[in-house]
Amino acid sequence: MDKAKIDWANIGFGYIKTDKRYVSDYKNGVWDEGRLIDDDQIIMSECAGVLQYAQTCFEGLKAYTTEDGRIVTFRPDLNGERFEESCRRLEIPVFSKDRFVDAVLKVVKANEAYVPPFGYGATLYLRPYAFGISPVIGVKPADEYQFRVFATPVGHYFKGGTKGISIKVSDFDRAAPRGTGDIKAGLNYAMSLHPIVVAHNEGYAENMYLDAATRTKVEETGGANFLFITKDGTVVTPKSDTILPSITRRSLLYVAEQILGMKVEEREVYLSELGDFVECGLCGTAAVISPVARVVDHGKEIAFRYGAEEMGPVTKKLYDTLTGIQMGRLPAPEGWIYEVK
Ligand SMILES: *Cc1c(COP(=O)(O)O)cnc(C)c1O
Repeated sequence: MDKAKIDWANIGFGYIKTDKRYVSDYKNGVWDEGRLIDDDQIIMSECAGVLQYAQTCFEGLKAYTTEDGRIVTFRPDLNGERFEESCRRLEIPVFSKDRFVDAVLKVVKANEAYVPPFGYGATLYLRPYAFGISPVIGVKPADEYQFRVFATPVGHYFKGGTKGISIKVSDFDRAAPRGTGDIKAGLNYAMSLHPIVVAHNEGYAENMYLDAATRTKVEETGGANFLFITKDGTVVTPKSDTILPSITRRSLLYVAEQILGMKVEEREVYLSELGDFVECGLCGTAAVISPVARVVDHGKEIAFRYGAEEMGPVTKKLYDTLTGIQMGRLPAPEGWIYEVK
């Protein structure tokens, strides 16, 4: 298939419309069989549940061209599982994991011309989501829903190099105990927009959110989980019920322990112990793992030994191994790679 006329080396992280998207409608108590369509516009009631009470959840994953020219996705079954959880918590009728994976693969296949060729560090980003589409004015779940998957090519995350970012300890909270921090809901992002604008205005790239109950423990940023490396090379990640369970973070921990033979710990991480770590990284689908150089807590700076100039050695090893698996350069654990072509 001929590739789209896109300057692969210079695409950024924005929306580029592609040819096909997947849609399934939920009406009269059932999801229909679904289909690929051309139309990128959605027409809905002015009173749609998603517009009034933010009844929507989403996922994010990528398709890659491997070194040997195959097109693959990475653990889409885990995105499908997490999507089921998000639907349940928001009273959206569950769109099953199996149908989710099928829809994702169909969208990749139908937009093959937009899957960036190997070598540019670019990928095809996939955005599955569901939302209440029927009118809702009294507070309750909608009666009708739509599930969609669209695709958009995105560029290399580390275009400007791998210099670590500066982040601030936020005065806002991301997620309440027993709230919705552990599901991928649009509402978690809506409330993070003001804090991120504040952080950017102050010259920080991201916010570090603390646990809302005690404000002593590290949770995550608005859209990525933390990994920390101790002096003796142990990989530590915060454990909390109000963190979004990142698939990248779970995969990196597996890679660290099972493939690289490193020690890993998932435990509560206190703000007061950050100075004991030598590397800090943010993990998520977008960047895989991106280095953090310093955390600033109300004027008090915690600088990590590595990260100011480039990725620390452990972060780099984790990054190289996981991207090696995703790009087909290294063997993948059973079931991690779904081949589209
Ligand atoms: C999506 C997301 C992540 C990263 O999850 P991945 O599955 O690794 O992409 C981390 N934190 C939040 C809040 C998220 O929404």
